[in-house]
Amino acid sequence: MKAVRYFGHKEVRVVNDLEKPVPKGDEVLLKIGGAGVCHSDLHIIDGGIAGDAVFTLGHENAGWVEAVGETVKGYKKGDAVLVYGPWGCGHCKPCQQSKENYCDHQSELGYGGGLGLNGGMAEYMLVPSSRLLVPIYDLDPVVAAPLTDAALTPYSAIKRSLTKLMPDEYVVVIGVGGLGHVAIQILREISGSEIIACDVTEDKLEFAKELGAAHTVNSKDSDAAEQILKIIGIKKAKVVLDFVGATSTIELGTKVVGMDGDLTIVGLGGGYYQYGSMNGLPFGVTMTNPYWGSRTELMEVIGLARQGKIHIEIEKFDLEQANEVYDKMRQGKIKGRAVLIP
Ligand code: NAD
Ligand code: ZN
Repeated sequence: MKAVRYFGHKEVRVVNDLEKPVPKGDEVLLKIGGAGVCHSDLHIIDGGIAGDAVFTLGHENAGWVEAVGETVKGYKKGDAVLVYGPWGCGHCKPCQQSKENYCDHQSELGYGGGLGLNGGMAEYMLVPSSRLLVPIYDLDPVVAAPLTDAALTPYSAIKRSLTKLMPDEYVVVIGVGGLGHVAIQILREISGSEIIACDVTEDKLEFAKELGAAHTVNSKDSDAAEQILKIIGIKKAKVVLDFVGATSTIELGTKVVGMDGDLTIVGLGGGYYQYGSMNGLPFGVTMTNPYWGSRTELMEVIGLARQGKIHIEIEKFDLEQANEVYDKMRQGKIKGRAVLIP
């Protein structure tokens, strides 16, 4: 079968000679409908965070059940499902709570399909346990694939700040890409706060307004923080969601977050934060670096999508175009999310 394989630093090739896996025990074989292309793939390809492993890329996967192992119950051929991405041990307390993104054994396990283990940029994908599937019912797997990360990750990040996201408060979203464009919609639907979106191109800022941002600021402007504070006033932002994580965006976040606010850094941009510098962080701010979300939160995300409250803006590509898509992403030229279709 065909697959997009990672062979090491900056080496991605489409191969045609992989064997179609056969599921055993609790394993499930999926026929892939779509695999989302996440910026985290670039941290693997360009940044080398996956070490020496050789594997099939793609950690935002959806498709139809093709075959099941002999002990699988509750799934049959043709069922449309999403693959929950962070694969935990399944037994520890966080996993029992469905928070496999914070599995106690993560350091021993690798991070899941497409992140060191075989993922879904392929015709078929072997999922190690039926526990990791979430039904999507009437949603189209091609359109739904990015829900499992581009929507789940911001959803989980927003939920932890929900009690602060009141209608008289402001929330700043930095980076209106795959995750950020869904974050704006989730904030619009489940919080009352006024949304200020930042990106570095005018078309992304225009896009943010279409999705529900009340204000936009180009974070390349040297006075971006002043522009944001002029909109909000003295109390500053209650919550900042940084979907870039570069030193410049972390600095911006520290300048605009208010006392007792949340500064949530989702982007893996490798930026630095120096405590006590940059005119100081206001008192009481909680800084956090959330990772992905839980399986039950993914069910909630699917609920939002099935009600039509959030959608993923997708650009479709063939598997063969993987490298072309990664190049577009490096240049910030994907609107919403790219999805590879086998
Ligand atoms: P993306 O490439 O789709 O979007 C990034 C966006 O940020 C683009 O619109 C780009 O123009 C914008 N941007 C770049 N520099 C900027 C700046 N200085 N100020 C404002 N905007 C800027 O990326 P994505 O797939 O949405 O991922 C975003 C980040 O989140 C990546 O670092 C990714 O690895 C990370 N991520 C983290 C988790 C997690 O669980 N913590 C999960 C998924 C992705
Ligand atoms: Zn991802």
